[in-house]
Amino acid sequence: MANFEYLAEELNQLKQDGRYRELSVWGSGCGTWMELGGRKVLQLSSNNYLGLTSHPDMKRAAIDAIDKYGVGSGSVRTITGTLNVHDRLERELAAFKGTEAALVFQSGYAANLGVLSSILTSDDVVISDELNHASIIDGIRLSKTNRKIYAHKDLDQLEQRLKESANYRTRVIVTDGVFSMDGDIAPLPQIVELCEKYDAIVYVDDAHASGVLGKNGKGSTDHFGLNGRVHIQIGTLSKAVGAVGGYVACEQVLKQFLVHKARSFLFSTALPPAVAATCISAIHVLQASSDRIERLWNNTAFFRGELKKMGFDTGVSETPIIPIIVGQPAKTMQFSDALLAEGIFAQGIVYPTVANDKGRVRLIITAAHTDEDLKFALDRLEKVGKAFGLI
Ligand code: PMP
Repeated sequence: MANFEYLAEELNQLKQDGRYRELSVWGSGCGTWMELGGRKVLQLSSNNYLGLTSHPDMKRAAIDAIDKYGVGSGSVRTITGTLNVHDRLERELAAFKGTEAALVFQSGYAANLGVLSSILTSDDVVISDELNHASIIDGIRLSKTNRKIYAHKDLDQLEQRLKESANYRTRVIVTDGVFSMDGDIAPLPQIVELCEKYDAIVYVDDAHASGVLGKNGKGSTDHFGLNGRVHIQIGTLSKAVGAVGGYVACEQVLKQFLVHKARSFLFSTALPPAVAATCISAIHVLQASSDRIERLWNNTAFFRGELKKMGFDTGVSETPIIPIIVGQPAKTMQFSDALLAEGIFAQGIVYPTVANDKGRVRLIITAAHTDEDLKFALDRLEKVGKAFGLI
């Protein structure tokens, strides 16, 4: 047997730091009330922003696609894996986003990895917000490019980095549209202006803005009225859209380049046809009505307002991602456990994902939460928050 003692030692260290976590194994599909360990708990941490994971039209589309195509796509996209549902999904995504083209990846993670690692070379420079998502960091690492980090949303520092970068072939500014741990929104209009001033490419990861921000959930570019001025928009099909997958919405020339160069696209089997079909259906659901998005934002405003009235620290949240800042890792995980004992699942997030003293439970409010759900959650949060001295 291999000697994995060094791995066991690292795990022990995680246990001592209060950062060790067993996987929660759920007995029901993603919804507001989910089965965990034989009991129902209120889910406050899923990315199912619009409750679409169980939308009847999307389920029907998936079942019909399985009947027509089978369950798998059989190969990578460049061999026999591009079925007409994949092609249609890309055309519909491009039309939805108002871009020339779109290219679908197996996840948002794979999209960031594939795009960043292939478009950036040692002749270029990437300038990245310090709080960007791990998949952006990994995509940059995989490239051989020059990298500069700017302090979170610090536009002066961003401008300074741009000034220092005049001699590179291409400058790419990368930002999350909505930051996944704090729920704040990137200052995209100012970023776009700076990029235009210094001739740089704007790259926005809209994983948490897809289906959430902008008209019918078109994302942060649409939200700020910047259509046509953001060069690369990454979206996910895994969160508000309710299925799985990622995409880039961009110019045709970039799509064609990625089809030839993006390794996460080239060397991994295409999404199952049922997933592509259900995502097409999701786009139609988004286009047909913005009622769900309105409900999402009303729920969010109500819930965050009530938490603030109670005295919780919700950081800089502006979106349905609402952190409750607790502090040290061990206390954070204990707070999360205590909420679970009261019937609420609120994921604890600790160092190194966030700073050591900024451990938090990260709540995500959805359109599917009823008024009763939200009141139940607030009641329990108040009780446990008082017991932990947070309010
Ligand atoms: N970017 C951001 C900002 C994210 O939060 C996530 C998901 N955690 C991803 C990309 C990856 O998306 P996916 O889950 O579709 O791989």
